[in-house]
Amino acid sequence: MNKFNLKSLNSSTTMTQILIHQAHCIATQDDQDRELKGGSILIENGLIKEVYTADQFQTSAKHLLSEVDQVIDARHHLVIPGMVNCHHHMVQSLTRAYLPVQNAELFSWLRGLYPIWANLRPEMVQVASKVAMAELLMSGCTTSSDHLYIYPNGVNLEDSIEAAKATGIRFVATRGSMSVGQSKGGLPPDRVVENEEAILKETQRLIEKWHDAQHGSMLNIAVAPCSPFTVSEGLMKESAKLARAYGVRLHTHLAENDHDIAYTLEKFNCTPTQYVEKLDWVGDDVWHAHCVKIDAPGIALFSQTKTSIAHCPCSNMRLASGILPLRKLLDAQVNVGLGVDGSASNDGAHMLSEARQAMLLARVAKSLEPFGCDTGPQEMTPRDALRVATRGGAQTLGRQDIGQIAKGYCADLALFRTDTLPMAGGSIHDPVGALLLCSSQLTDYTLVNGKVVVERGVFKPFELEPVTHKHNEFALALTQ
Ligand code: ZN
Repeated sequence: MNKFNLKSLNSSTTMTQILIHQAHCIATQDDQDRELKGGSILIENGLIKEVYTADQFQTSAKHLLSEVDQVIDARHHLVIPGMVNCHHHMVQSLTRAYLPVQNAELFSWLRGLYPIWANLRPEMVQVASKVAMAELLMSGCTTSSDHLYIYPNGVNLEDSIEAAKATGIRFVATRGSMSVGQSKGGLPPDRVVENEEAILKETQRLIEKWHDAQHGSMLNIAVAPCSPFTVSEGLMKESAKLARAYGVRLHTHLAENDHDIAYTLEKFNCTPTQYVEKLDWVGDDVWHAHCVKIDAPGIALFSQTKTSIAHCPCSNMRLASGILPLRKLLDAQVNVGLGVDGSASNDGAHMLSEARQAMLLARVAKSLEPFGCDTGPQEMTPRDALRVATRGGAQTLGRQDIGQIAKGYCADLALFRTDTLPMAGGSIHDPVGALLLCSSQLTDYTLVNGKVVVERGVFKPFELEPVTHKHNEFALALTQ
């Protein structure tokens, strides 16, 4: 069982050192993709100070056992870098499994939910974001973006920023927006869209107030008009100018399903990737959610311009949007990260499960023409999926300090027990393969910025039960 030696109760103390000791396996995701049996990790000041093989620790670092503030015995754990969630709408946790749209495709699903979301209030966003973040942290995600694009009744992006501070997750808050309502040919009702000038002004304020670009930053801001069918070309162009003036990233939805493609063809007379090229929405500072229906010229464009994609397999299956040609994209050197997407189109925020689904769905893609390959299960190995969920996500969010377990990187780690029921018989053969192939479990420990957020399966930042209770009250109020 775990040996737990806690000298300091305050894990946020500046010089706190934590030792992850003698792990069953560390899947580092480093440049050599090392998997270390019996390895150890020393954490200091929120960063990884050293990674030891079993031999290195024995010969040069045993003294640490009596010197550090906390030792986490990891003999029964697989340690991975904290996974990175690249697309989410956390407020949608309030409308999970909402019966009237359970079986709807994207556009009718949105039309059914816009009037509900129009009733959102700031306290609902705060609680829903806390729920979503806690869920992510417990499933092995340590950095998440969130795309909040609806601002009724005084809702503000700062409602979700406050939730990130309360949960301890590393956060990329994207200032979403909608400006083209039904009267102008858009999808959302007019009462939930905003004035474009106000959107840009508020986005600029948020960047100036909150964006932190430093190594180890806990908060980035990105600029994120919602989609081709909810904002104008003008807002897209102005958003790109604003983002580039401040060196922040750009995010939107693109090519999600056939209706989305048809809308862009009809309204803008081009494909979605031609549209974003025209708007200057390509480059290594841009990531697009979904891109399920990306075509061959689009893949080439994204490869040349180093534009990233947030792949959301569960949402794409739930809404029957289609299958992303993941293997084709990776083979074309397009960077792909994973997103759990909004909790009303998933209906979960389990990052490990999302990686598992990405692996399984890519294998099914064999049957999808013209992108299908004949390789079948080799389309996506468990290790490929883990790479996409960690380093792929870090690159998608433009972070050079997360996504791998290596010296100098942020101490963002997920520890999964290898001796559990779901892993029985699997982790014996191959703990890394078993993590993705066996049923997805929750972490035993999650560390963010060197701070223990989940400890022996317990979420530490606050009590979950009252927050969940409040969340359910709000969910009911919202739909009545
Ligand atoms: Zn989305």
